[in-house]
Amino acid sequence: MKRIYMVMALVCLCVLGSGAAGVKHGSVKTLVDSCGFFPQISPDGQWLLYSPIEGTSLMLKNLATGAVTTVSSVGHPGYDAIFGADGKVYYVTQQVMKKGLVYRTGHCYDPSTGENKVVLKAQHGQVQALHAARGVVINGEQQYYRNNNRVGAWAYTRGDKLYLVDEVGSTRVLQPVQESNGYLWASLSPDGTKVMFEAAARGLYVCDLNGQVLAELGQYLMPSWYNNNYIVAMSNAGNVRTSGSRIWLLGVDGEVCKPISARDERAVQPMVCNGKIVYSILYSGEVKQMELDIPAATWQPATQGKGKTEKVKNPASKKDVPRIYINPGHGGHDSDDRHVPTWVIGKQDTLHYYESNSNLTKGLALQEILTNKGYETAISRKTNYTEDDLDLFEIVALAANSGADIFFSIHSNATGIDKRINFPLGLYRGWDGQPVVEGSLKLSDLVMKYAVQNALAVWTHGERSRGDWSFYDWGYKVGLGVLRFNKLPGFLSEGSFHDYLPERERLLNDSYCWLEAWNQSLGIDEYFGRKGKFKNSVVAGTVRWSDLQRHDEDKRVFGEDELLPINGALLRLYNGRGVLSRVYTTDNLDNGVFVFTNLQPDKYKLELYYGGENLYESKKVKVKKGKTSYINLKLKSTQKPKK
Ligand SMILES: [Zn+2]
Repeated sequence: MKRIYMVMALVCLCVLGSGAAGVKHGSVKTLVDSCGFFPQISPDGQWLLYSPIEGTSLMLKNLATGAVTTVSSVGHPGYDAIFGADGKVYYVTQQVMKKGLVYRTGHCYDPSTGENKVVLKAQHGQVQALHAARGVVINGEQQYYRNNNRVGAWAYTRGDKLYLVDEVGSTRVLQPVQESNGYLWASLSPDGTKVMFEAAARGLYVCDLNGQVLAELGQYLMPSWYNNNYIVAMSNAGNVRTSGSRIWLLGVDGEVCKPISARDERAVQPMVCNGKIVYSILYSGEVKQMELDIPAATWQPATQGKGKTEKVKNPASKKDVPRIYINPGHGGHDSDDRHVPTWVIGKQDTLHYYESNSNLTKGLALQEILTNKGYETAISRKTNYTEDDLDLFEIVALAANSGADIFFSIHSNATGIDKRINFPLGLYRGWDGQPVVEGSLKLSDLVMKYAVQNALAVWTHGERSRGDWSFYDWGYKVGLGVLRFNKLPGFLSEGSFHDYLPERERLLNDSYCWLEAWNQSLGIDEYFGRKGKFKNSVVAGTVRWSDLQRHDEDKRVFGEDELLPINGALLRLYNGRGVLSRVYTTDNLDNGVFVFTNLQPDKYKLELYYGGENLYESKKVKVKKGKTSYINLKLKSTQKPKK
């Protein structure tokens, strides 16, 4: 890790002396016993906001009396709530509209009066409650709300850009760190001279107001300013199901970097207000509070004046275009990836199948297909290195920050070698039939419906959609890490089983991965009420010997997978006017797959050649608008060519 030293280091040392900052003796207190996540403490230290793990409700606890009030339990209000310096609660809710678009609304709740009102009407895209220097902004893509006329400067992120809005409302767009799959958690220092943000997979940065990087602090998430020289953040937790996280105190100068929460406690989601640090314990949802023996910054008092809603000038996003956040699972061929060595017939172990490879091929294909269909997309990785294998907290936060309408995680499945089966499985958050986020089950069902229509695969079972809490026996409501803390309608697609060996050989073929993504796009079209709106069509199939058996080391194969696929078969596709429109040669990886993409509807003729220019088969294929025509061909090894 590189550290950039600067003038500020001197300032910091003056304040701290030897830098012996630590937790005040006896200051760690438990504020909530269970189910408390995304904790926020009020400026006067009297109130605690928190939500259950799914963000399905927003709770407010009076720390003096212990009384708990539900602020809201509609539209996942739990994840974006903050306190203003005025002591009021600002939060965002979401609503899935008729055609799958998610609209988000800004609210304000006053704990002293119990008044709860809408301050920013529903709009499509990203809407977030953010701290400004002297107030709160609920920032939307079409409109934003400021809780007073002079909130001062503020910062936010969208995609891989950092936006700084100054006192008079003019915005600067900065990109201090290149090659990041998105920025998160931007905020100005208490004195307004620096801004901190996280660049996904790259780490936590502090820069000046011109975007000049001042410090590179390493892999920490969900940062919060303690004072002008110190930041409190959580460590990158990796796979949160198996490894822990701690709360850290980080010097902006890079000199101080120490954990302040207990080892093995799995502390997450820290937030600082007027020297009080609150954080949650993963799984239990215990909320704790601690104080440090160094002076904290105090929040600037709220400026008086009326709140106001304003239109955003030059909105960057198109209104009401469905937006999809794509997450190709795993990354980097390391421990959390899934690897199956491949025995290509006659060439033992010459290739390695990694789930991260086919997930990425499918993800990039899906992004391209959806973009061509006019959707907006964002993707969690475009390459396949350990460094871009994001933390699950980052993935979920990036998806939410993108303002997407759905979250789509791409994987393939495995059962272990003795059971070898193959079927598409959609996993959404919740119990079977009871998704935590509205729309998730519908989306999963639609995508799975098209997935199982893929006639190149041999399916041993029909498609399924399951709730992750019911599906995994990892503990009560544990489920999939990547769906934890996710509030977007969405699911994880286990497209097929990569340890069913003929399927793994198909997944080594990029066209086959493309076909899975294409089928996913058809499910997405239907979810957003766009079924049949797109003209492009597909012809796909396999070529196998009708009288030769596979001789894999594993004989557990089903149906036509018992037949040996034909490598190096040449397919020619002629359009209705007899013009050669496409050519495809099956690869040498024992899958027999061919796919012709982006075809115009027409009556085509498909010809199969083998061993040079020897024509063996000629078939008519009718291609309908927006549909896939499947055609599996077989050749007898003793068959003579037609010409
Ligand atoms: Zn996976």
